[in-house]
Amino acid sequence: MGYHTFCTLYETYVLPVANYGAGVWGFKSYPAPQVLQHRINHCNLGMSRLAANASTPIQLDILDITYTRWLEILRYGNHLQSLHDDRLHKLIMKWEVPKGGKGWWSDLFQITESLHLPHPNTGILYDLVSAKSSLKSMSGTGWWSGAETKSKLRSFICSKYRSDTTTVVKANLSRTQRSLLAKLSCGTLPLQLEIGGYTNVDEEDRLCKICNTNRVETEYHFLFDCAPLQWVRSRFYVEHISEIGWFMLLPDHKKVMYLLSKEMVEHFATHVEDLYHARCNIIYKPRV
Ligand SMILES: [Zn+2]
Repeated sequence: MGYHTFCTLYETYVLPVANYGAGVWGFKSYPAPQVLQHRINHCNLGMSRLAANASTPIQLDILDITYTRWLEILRYGNHLQSLHDDRLHKLIMKWEVPKGGKGWWSDLFQITESLHLPHPNTGILYDLVSAKSSLKSMSGTGWWSGAETKSKLRSFICSKYRSDTTTVVKANLSRTQRSLLAKLSCGTLPLQLEIGGYTNVDEEDRLCKICNTNRVETEYHFLFDCAPLQWVRSRFYVEHISEIGWFMLLPDHKKVMYLLSKEMVEHFATHVEDLYHARCNIIYKPRV
């Protein structure tokens, strides 16, 4: 499924159901919508449920489902503000807002304070587009700080400074390629570093099984170092990297940032697929 199709389906089918009535009832933190959002994200990216949830909204650039409820409340706040003064809802609003207290109004107050918006009793309509962008930036900050505490996201954190974290989902990739890149970014590609975690092997003992260098098979080792896969790498460098000398001098995380750029991501996806197949062929080839 393409990125735009995903966003359209998500915004037109999932959010209206998940946020039904939020504008009237206010907001509260419920786990079920979050779980639903994580499942949808994982399915779209082709990742297993073991992948860290913190990374998926960043890759898809979608708003946290809790904050979409906030937007609904603001939208209903606008609706109330624009009602004629003699309408019952408006009269109740005028009577209730100065009193404060708990309930829907306190939710709206809380949202406006968090977003540094004017209070509801000022009569100013809220700009929902800029509110959405503020909420996205708020939730983005939360996601990154959550991601920094997850050891699996060691290589993903290096993507923090990429200008666009959605290049993988927006590129024209097969489902397998998208899944491989998403797993690679989130540290769940079944390399020894990841597999060793299932059997409680110490991290320094999760050694690569296809080269004899006694090095831990990390994402960077797989991508740039492992010698038996060098023939796949050389072919890719010759075909797609115009300045190989410059590229080789970059630190590993910058190489990944470059390869995940909009211009390179499709070539990189094909390369990772070739590299992974070559690795599997070496590890799982029948012994004679
Ligand atoms: Zn190796």
